[in-house]
Amino acid sequence: MDRSAFFIGGEWVEAHSSKRLRLVNPTTERQYGTVPIADSVDVYAAVAAAGTAFPGWSRTSQAERSEHIASIVHALDAKSEELAQTITQEIGCPISLSRTAQVGSCSAVFSTYVDIARNFSFERSMEAALVVQEAAGVAVAITAWNYPLLLMAAKIAPALAAGCTTVLKPSELTSLSSLLFAEVLENAGLPPGVVNVITGDGPVTGEHLIRHPDVAAVSFTGSTKTGRHIAQAAAETIKNVTLELGGKSASLVFADADLETAVRSTVASAFRNSGQTCVALTRLVIERSRQEEALEIAREAAREWTLGDPMSEDTRVGPVASASQYDLVQSMIHNGIRDGARVIVGGTGKPAGFDRGYYVQPTILADIDPCATVAQEEIFGPVLSVIPFDNDDHAIEIANNSRYGLSGGVWSGDEQRAMRIARRVQTGMISINAPKGSLLVPFGGVKQSGQGREWGETGMYEYLETKSILL
Ligand code: NDP
Repeated sequence: MDRSAFFIGGEWVEAHSSKRLRLVNPTTERQYGTVPIADSVDVYAAVAAAGTAFPGWSRTSQAERSEHIASIVHALDAKSEELAQTITQEIGCPISLSRTAQVGSCSAVFSTYVDIARNFSFERSMEAALVVQEAAGVAVAITAWNYPLLLMAAKIAPALAAGCTTVLKPSELTSLSSLLFAEVLENAGLPPGVVNVITGDGPVTGEHLIRHPDVAAVSFTGSTKTGRHIAQAAAETIKNVTLELGGKSASLVFADADLETAVRSTVASAFRNSGQTCVALTRLVIERSRQEEALEIAREAAREWTLGDPMSEDTRVGPVASASQYDLVQSMIHNGIRDGARVIVGGTGKPAGFDRGYYVQPTILADIDPCATVAQEEIFGPVLSVIPFDNDDHAIEIANNSRYGLSGGVWSGDEQRAMRIARRVQTGMISINAPKGSLLVPFGGVKQSGQGREWGETGMYEYLETKSILL
């Protein structure tokens, strides 16, 4: 499928740029389409459309914005299967996961902002002042490919609720699903220019967006390396910057934990979406006295993560999203083994019977040194590193021995102990005895996992400026 237009100002506008991106299905390794790479003329047109729409949109009532967001939820439902199949084609995500974690979660995020848009308090009186929250202006959303619609929803929904207008640039790998989302916006009857969708790559399209003088806020989800660059570029014009970056989250399993549940949940977290999940628990930090037992459970659990065609309902692990991602994951597994890791399951090379497609063997590596590359670097593939610890302080030392601080888990039969541990782990989010989730709870990381928070009411503040009117 070849697309040649962007969604700008409520219309499909032919790209000025003649450059095209090739879209490759990671399951077949075949090209399935092309999309344009927005150049400076295209980017300026999209930002101008958002700028023109801003005064009107920011002055709409909260009730109107809430109704528009509800229309998006409705329009999403009508396209949900097409979106799910497109994402599976784009990144190899198993179709059942595409329906739930990809499209379903996107719809769920927009749903939360139906209420938030209506009920959020934009003003409060204090001392001799009225403190008001005002929409920041034009916001740019730049997203990664692993959960394209969910990541986009976590930016566009609060921006709309806050009164901002936006330009979305998805990862090049997920261009098609984002253009389909633009059709959703069209069907929802959103006023022209309130959300604009352009495709392209980071070095051309992304650069023009983050340096544009009329952009007030940039919300970015992606790697720490790109996030650092975006923060530097955005500093030129002092834009508000939200960064949701990489992670290397630890699952701390204590000897008094329900081992079966703890280990199975950790394996699931590490392997889901072929390990391409920012909050995945990719370090299993286990009390040494129960390590061998845990490894046995992990080996059994890994068997249930069946590889296959991601369009099949039974498949739990599809290919990784691209050839470069495949190469990266292979080199990481290779490094781990070279550094002395004990291979519990998996290893380097393609899984038997999967010669075509970017398939990786789900891999569990034990006897990992906490400073080894596989314990420090985000792999973004189905790879779990197992590290033993001797006591509480040692467990926390290992968990915090990371430049990242996105997520984590603590497993213990003693809830007070688990709470003490959770408070000492340097991370933006951490769960106790089960990976719980709520789309209303602040989402984000510390250290090099990012800055700012998304989801729920907290997510609104990334798109608001505070003004004090002194009375
Ligand atoms: P990248 O950092 O490579 O890219 C992310 C986005 O930034 C893409 O749209 C990319 O465009 C764009 N981009 C790249 N260079 C520039 C630039 N110079 N200026 C502006 N934009 C640019 O990340 P990936 O797409 O590979 O995603 C994987 C990463 O995302 C992992 O580190 C993962 O942990 C993180 N992530 C974090 C989450 C969180 O909430 N904390 C959630 C999900 C993922 P293009 O690729 O088209 O060139």
